[in-house]
This record gives sequence, structure tokens and C-alpha cells, in this order.
Amino acid sequence: MAELKSHEPATGALLWEGEASDVDAEVACITAACPQWAARAFSYRIETMRRFANLVRAHETELADLVARETGRPLWDARTEATGIMEAVEQAVSAYSQRTGQKRLEGALGARQALRHKPHGVLAVITPYNSPALVPASHIIPALIAGNGVAFKPSEKTPAVGLLLVKMLHEAGIPPDILRCIIGGREAGEALTVHDSVAGILFTGSAQTGAAINRALAERPDKLAALEMGGNNPMILWDTPDIASVVALVIQSAFLSGGQRCTAGRRLIIKDSLADIVIEELRRMTSRLLIDHPHADPAPYMGPAIDMRTADNLTDGFLYLMSNGGRPITHMRRPQDNAPFLTPGIIDVTAMEKRPDAELFGPILQIVRVADFDTAIVEANNSRYGLCAALFGGSPDHYDRFWANARAGIVNWNRPTTSNLPGAPLGGVGLSGNHRPGAFYAADHCAYPVASAEIEQARATIGIGLKADEIIADR
Ligand code: NAD
Repeated sequence: MAELKSHEPATGALLWEGEASDVDAEVACITAACPQWAARAFSYRIETMRRFANLVRAHETELADLVARETGRPLWDARTEATGIMEAVEQAVSAYSQRTGQKRLEGALGARQALRHKPHGVLAVITPYNSPALVPASHIIPALIAGNGVAFKPSEKTPAVGLLLVKMLHEAGIPPDILRCIIGGREAGEALTVHDSVAGILFTGSAQTGAAINRALAERPDKLAALEMGGNNPMILWDTPDIASVVALVIQSAFLSGGQRCTAGRRLIIKDSLADIVIEELRRMTSRLLIDHPHADPAPYMGPAIDMRTADNLTDGFLYLMSNGGRPITHMRRPQDNAPFLTPGIIDVTAMEKRPDAELFGPILQIVRVADFDTAIVEANNSRYGLCAALFGGSPDHYDRFWANARAGIVNWNRPTTSNLPGAPLGGVGLSGNHRPGAFYAADHCAYPVASAEIEQARATIGIGLKADEIIADR
């Protein structure tokens, strides 16, 4: 079995090491346990989940500490993973009843029509590194509530958080065989995707991996694939009396978690006449951001990138923009040679002839200046992705036009792109998803509907189309 290691990005210290899982053995174990879990009363499964939420509350500090160490996200930022999980439990409970509950229509003579939902069986949950507890939990919780078994493969960059999450779910009462943590990298994800006993894939990660999963399932239309992917999210900045506030919103959108959020604002589209003053304020405020170890005091705004390779790729991405017509506003720097810390890079790409439509998953902000609002909307939609979009400033009329025309699953006004509503679905269009949004709508793909026409006593005649003597004989 291959060895896997996880290092703390901020210090390089070894955090966890262990062996890759045997995918076949783990899936066989879940498959055998599934019928018993599916037969459990819904109320039992909910109670177990609420116990899990209480355990997360009790171990909030331990969980946040591990998320901070394994991802490099500041401790205050890592804490939002725990609070998000507690909300996700309540959300999944009410979503299951509201979206996949039971309906019964009583007819004459004891006949009824019923709509109920059944679990799929074994679902594979394959997730990214940047939100190593909340993102998996937002798939695992609805899947278990609906009665499925789960093969959960955390990112190979964050196995320790994945294992802690599963330990807490087992402690809460989820049978160990119904939820297994599959340790491994791309190969384990590929093996789960095509495994005959896996009924569906609940995936969050990059569009490239989502496409690879789609390709692997090209001849398996029977398998469910819920793909939540990245974004190249636009922010339009328009008329406003409060430049400092809109710039704060831009920074919260672009640099929260060091830009390692699917919902991060990547492209800032500014009204030309405001651009100079906005850019000056952006430069000033960005220079004040603390970038440090996740546990540092005073608390930093952002930590490092996840690893050296990712930091190298981001630096290369910034250099590409620079050498192809981009004009740097703040340079992306590497303050330490031996750790993947990055300072935010801001670059004006207005003059670039061909801007790459790629998700640069880190603290890089691209600026485009435009003359009028219609051009701003065209520029916002100039992407194959469609996860989030935000308008900062502008009038109610601007927002109406923006909302009506923005092609994205989250459209905000004067709120950061990273702010999404609890109790709402989460997903995007274009390369950002395959129309199976998660969060509140995850209930939809965690169970399938079964429609039944039912009556206790068989009572039937063929009233038409029979030869006369057969009708008589029937009687
Ligand atoms: P990634 O796509 O590299 O990896 C995600 C997971 O897929 C990992 O567990 C990885 O091991 C696995 N994997 C890799 N290749 C595979 C294959 N061929 N078949 C099956 N599984 C495979 O993503 P990442 O770099 O870990 O995370 C960052 C990405 O996640 C960004 O694109 C970000 O936008 C996205 N993301 C999206 C959301 C959302 O809700 N839409 C949330 C968080 C992150």
C-alpha cells in the first residue's frame, strides 16, 4: 500500500502519515452494511446527526485547530468550518422533509397514491482540500440522512481533517461500516468513480477533475454524478459614495482564505471613471493585510497557499498575466523561500488581448476597466464558469439589470461573493456544476423518488375490449 503524508503548509512540519486504503475492501464493507442503515427509522438517522452536531460543538476548538494546521487557514477562518457543519445538519434535516419527504393521497375504497424516496446505496464523496470539513460534511450529512452508505475520500492534502470528521460521525452513532474514510489521491478517486458497487459520486473540486469524472462515467448513465466545481467569479464595481466599503467587499471576496475558495471574486470590473481612486484604496488596504501563520498573534487575514507547488503555479499564473499585457498594481511576492506564503497580487488586465478564462485558485485579483454598465455585464459573463457574481455599489436599477443578466448560481449585491445564504442551494452554471446544486438542494440527489399506486385488496376487471363470452366467463 502506498504511503501518504500531510504537512502543515505554514511550517512544513509533518502532520500525519499513513497508508492508502484498499478501495475494494472498503466499498464491500459499506455495501454489506447499507440495507440495515436504510431500514433504520428516519427519526433515528436524524437523532444520530444531531448528536454529531453536538459533538462538533464540543470539539469545535480541536477541529478548527486541525483545519488551521492542515490547510494554513487562520484559526478564526478555520472555526467557520465547525459552525458551518452545525448549520448543515439542521439544513439537511429540514431539506430532507421539504424536498424528499413522503406524500400520500387517499382515494376511494382504500386506494391511495404514494410518493416516497429511497436511498441509492453506496455514494462516493470526493472532496477538495480548501474546506476539508465543511464541504465533505455538506455531502455526507444529507447522504446519510437519506439512508445511503458513504465512501468518503478526502483530499490527499487534508487526510487528517477527513479522518477526524469520520471519527466524530462514528462517535455520534453512525455505524462504522456505513461510513468509511478512503485515504488516497487521484487513483482512489478514479477507482471509486468506476466501482460497480458505487451508485453515485458526490464531487466537489476543480472543473478539470469534474470533467475527468464525467468522462470516466461516459458509458455509465445509470450512475449519479453531482459535480460542484470552481469559478472565475466577476465583481462589478459601480457608482458609490463609499469607496472604502466597496474596496473592503472586494478584499473580503478576493482574499478570504487566501483566495482559496470556490466563491472567491477573481475579476473586478470597474467603471473607468472610478478606477484610479478605487485602485489606490485597494493598494492601500491590501498593503495592510497581515499574512502569517494560522495561529499567529495578532491574527492574520490570510495564511499560506496549501503547498509549494500550488504557490509556484500561482506565481507562474501571475507572471503569465504580466508578460501578456497585464499591468501589476501590487506584485505577488513570496516572503519566505521555504514556505508557500504569498502576498496578494493585483493586476490590471484591461489591455490584455486574450485573457485566460482559468480559475487561479489563490490571492490573485484581475482588474478590467469598462466605460458603461452594459459592457460591464458582458465582461462579467465572459467566462465558461458561472458560480458567483456580485455588484458593489450601483443603484437598484443597476442591480435589477445585473441580476437579470448575470449568469451565475449566486448573485449578490453589496455582499461579498463568498457570502452564501444558509438554507439556500449552492451551485453554479457553465463549468461550475452540472445542475445538481448542493447545500439545501443536496437532498434531491441523495434519494430517488418512488411513486406507488396501492390498495390492500386486489380488485380488478377488464372492462373493455374482451369478447362477449370471455366477459361472461370471467364473471
Ligand atoms: P481537485 O479537483 O484537484 O481535487 C478534488 C478531489 O478530487 C481530491 O480528493 C482529489 O484526490 C480527487 N481527484 C483528483 N483527480 C481525480 C479523478 N480523476 N477522479 C476522481 N477523483 C479525483 O481540487 P482541489 O485542488 O483539491 O480543490 C480546489 C478546487 O475545488 C477549486 O477548483 C475550487 O473552486 C473547488 N471547490 C469548489 C467548491 C464548490 O462548492 N463548488 C467548494 C470548494 C472547492
